[in-house]
Amino acid sequence: MQNTFKVNLVEATLLTSRVRHLKFQREDGLPLEFIPGQFVSFHFRGGDAKEVRRSYSLATIPGESSYIELALGYVKGGIASEALFAAKPGDTFNMSGPYGRLILRDETPKRIILVATNTGVTPYRSMLPALAAKLETLKVVILLGVQKKEDALYSADFLTYTKLYPNLDFRLCYSRENKNNVSEPFEYVGHVQNQFENLNPIPDSDIVYLCGNPNMIDAAYELLKEKGFNPQQVRREKYVS
Ligand SMILES: Cc1cc2nc3c(=O)[nH]c(=O)nc-3n(C[C@H](O)[C@H](O)[C@H](O)COP(=O)(O)OP(=O)(O)OC[C@H]3O[C@@H](n4cnc5c(N)ncnc54)[C@H](O)[C@@H]3O)c2cc1C
Repeated sequence: MQNTFKVNLVEATLLTSRVRHLKFQREDGLPLEFIPGQFVSFHFRGGDAKEVRRSYSLATIPGESSYIELALGYVKGGIASEALFAAKPGDTFNMSGPYGRLILRDETPKRIILVATNTGVTPYRSMLPALAAKLETLKVVILLGVQKKEDALYSADFLTYTKLYPNLDFRLCYSRENKNNVSEPFEYVGHVQNQFENLNPIPDSDIVYLCGNPNMIDAAYELLKEKGFNPQQVRREKYVS
């Protein structure tokens, strides 16, 4: 397989009870060259010895870390989930990549709206320094949807950047949280795509990225199509096996 290499797990921490943050390094000591927004794939042997591939967006913030950082949401009984949730520092895996086109482009919309559910926010974490460079001239909105407060991941990273860059608007949306528990100015109750009503995306001035749960992506894309968006103005990455 072209571009396949071995990686060692260096460190694993829990971001939430169901999401593990994993840091890997290449066994050959080489850095992984990638563009923020891209993903890597693990190559496993399935039960019938056939190769099984599973993909994960890179969470690494360039300049802050040289590890291959990933966020893995646990799926009970899942081939990759069970292997990677049980993995210990020193364990070795086969990986390939980077792949993917959910990347920032050299273009000048007035606003970039980055929408994610759960670990779908991972590529946007990796984009933070690149977004910071754009925030001088345009607005960026990051919408992260999770079920409850305890499911939020990487919020601290996004909030750090909102303090430095007034043009960055980070909104954490809870689909199953009690309204009485929601008090911070960046917290909202409801699905991420409900925010479109208030943000009023406009095809001529906005570019939208959608990443994560396929149902969210389909629902959000339908709303954007109704507003006149075409496929080039809405970049989508569905997290499916
Ligand atoms: C480009 C890309 C990037 C991705 N990035 C990430 C990432 O950064 N983080 C991440 O956690 N995942 C990511 N995914 C999803 C990931 O690749 C796997 O699909 C996921 O981890 C499940 O794999 P598994 O082997 O554990 O489960 P599988 O063995 O594939 O599935 C086991 C069972 O669970 C079901 N299932 C699969 N996924 C889910 C789910 N999400 N919820 C409920 N049931 C499910 C399957 O239908 C099957 O019945 C990405 C997918 C793509 C295509």
